[in-house]
Amino acid sequence: MVEQPEEGQATATRKVTLRALRLGDAITVGTLAERMHVDPVLIIKQLMRTGVFASINQVVDYDTAAAIARPFGYVARRAADAVSVAAGAVAEDESADLSPRPPVVTILGHVDHGKTTLLDTIRSSDLVSKEAGGITQHIGAYQVDRNDFPITFIDTPGHEAFTAMRARGTQVTDIAVLVVAADDGVMPQTVEAIDHIKAAGVPIIVAINKMDSPKADAEKVRRQLSEKELVVEKWGGDVVDVEVSAKTGDGVDDLLEAIQLVAEVAELKADPNRPGVGVVVEARRDKSRGTLATVLVQTGSLHVGDYIVVGNTRGRVKALVNNEGRRVKIAGPSMPVEVLGISDLPGAGDRLVVVPNEKTARETVNERLRREDARGRGATLEEVGSRISSGEIKQMNLVVKTDVQGSIEAVRQSLEQLSTPEVQVRIIHAAAGSITESDVLLAVASSAVVVGFNVGPEPGARRQADQDGVQIRRYDIIYRLTEDIQKALTGMLEPTFEDITEATLEIRAVFSLGRRSKSAGCYVTSGKVTRGAKARVIRDSKEIYDGAIAGLRRFKDDVREVAEGYECGLTIEGFADYQVGDVVEVHRQQQVGV
Ligand code: GDP
Repeated sequence: MVEQPEEGQATATRKVTLRALRLGDAITVGTLAERMHVDPVLIIKQLMRTGVFASINQVVDYDTAAAIARPFGYVARRAADAVSVAAGAVAEDESADLSPRPPVVTILGHVDHGKTTLLDTIRSSDLVSKEAGGITQHIGAYQVDRNDFPITFIDTPGHEAFTAMRARGTQVTDIAVLVVAADDGVMPQTVEAIDHIKAAGVPIIVAINKMDSPKADAEKVRRQLSEKELVVEKWGGDVVDVEVSAKTGDGVDDLLEAIQLVAEVAELKADPNRPGVGVVVEARRDKSRGTLATVLVQTGSLHVGDYIVVGNTRGRVKALVNNEGRRVKIAGPSMPVEVLGISDLPGAGDRLVVVPNEKTARETVNERLRREDARGRGATLEEVGSRISSGEIKQMNLVVKTDVQGSIEAVRQSLEQLSTPEVQVRIIHAAAGSITESDVLLAVASSAVVVGFNVGPEPGARRQADQDGVQIRRYDIIYRLTEDIQKALTGMLEPTFEDITEATLEIRAVFSLGRRSKSAGCYVTSGKVTRGAKARVIRDSKEIYDGAIAGLRRFKDDVREVAEGYECGLTIEGFADYQVGDVVEVHRQQQVGV
């Protein structure tokens, strides 16, 4: 366990110092917030004061970030390695108050390669907690001690959870362990996991698992990994690999040692003496204890009695419980704890911040609710293009899915060769198969556009994309795709719109609303009518009017939408000449490819 300061000591030693913050050419608002350990909302507000309207995933350039950093007590310095800093993987800042913190590890890999078994084996190998008679609790994350070196593991393996957090603007993982079964080798989800880890800029350790199996072939795994540009140290590369058996426990201690080494190189630090900042790993409601949220403290310390804001809800810490089921008074950096005392259920990825008092908590929540849309949003190709042409960003990120494996390389090559010395086209993930939710989340987390070559999205992915504003562009001819990307790179891509008919209605009655205004009593024959769309009136097969929907009612109530098979009252802006038997087509301009 981490040595925790005594309660009360925390505030006494806090110093007001200007800290140095190394920044690359560009950084997202979310990452900047994370690096400075402040609420992203505060950064968005500060940006607004300077006339920049940005969302959490928006990228700002060095100068903007540097200007923003100052009021928060940071002096910006240019970093040599822009990519790793922009990824925010390693939270480094310089302050006299910083001390080492344990690494936070996530385990990723193909299904059935042994992620869960490995997590269980590591947990039960933690002799310290076993000897002390602790009872392991599944709270979503746990910490083990290897020769007094604590390591925190996130208990939800897989890249979906990993990227979902990033899509929400938070990155908790310091080191990713990629599990590959030695008797199965690199599989599609292994490749997917590699791309997700690389997009996050997190150091990677490969655990070659199931070495006890007679069919195990570690060399084959190494060869397959090298084809994915992960070259192990033995072969002259820089990737650490460890042979393990999650089942027998062989090699697991070597893996922990490798984690320790990589963590030491990364020099992970945090300031335990400042008010706590953390991220919700999971949350649930318990009948007798109320809301329980597992929080991973990222920096600072969380104390019993602290006023906190968690996502859009708040509370006061009633109790803190560690993964051994023990009550603790303080939780320091990288420590997972179950927090009791939050009023509503927060979501995974929600940020927790300690605030000075209840009033600030209330105000912060209200402010956040007002800025709901400050949450992660994807980007359209047109937006990326205009940001490139204004010099704001120098890289275009794409997630590419194709119908067959064979077309991946062709598509990749034709896209990557569009890169110029000034602007890079970067394919952060390319695979065969339909567009999945995890592709969409990766796009949100990396401000990427999703390209489907002869494939479309799965229903869940479509919903996720609509919700997060991610653009999915579909192509069936390579040159159309390269033409659009080329145009976007030069800022020449204009959005194209098409007209979509969303619903048809039949006018069955006409009502007078006053001397000149009338309303049409309609029946929805197909589709769904929504406010904000336009309505085209057709009489005897001819269009006689086209205008915006001004009112939509069910009985006496204003409604947002009316579905097929229902009746409604409709008014159209600037039109009153409704006649029974007219057909109304509700339509909307929709951006092509979104
Ligand atoms: P996950 O889907 O990646 O979480 O994989 P699981 O941990 O559920 O493991 C899938 C299967 O592989 C289970 O039947 C495990 O018992 C088995 N398994 C996991 N690790 C090992 C190992 O080191 N050796 C062998 N022989 N089997 C293993």
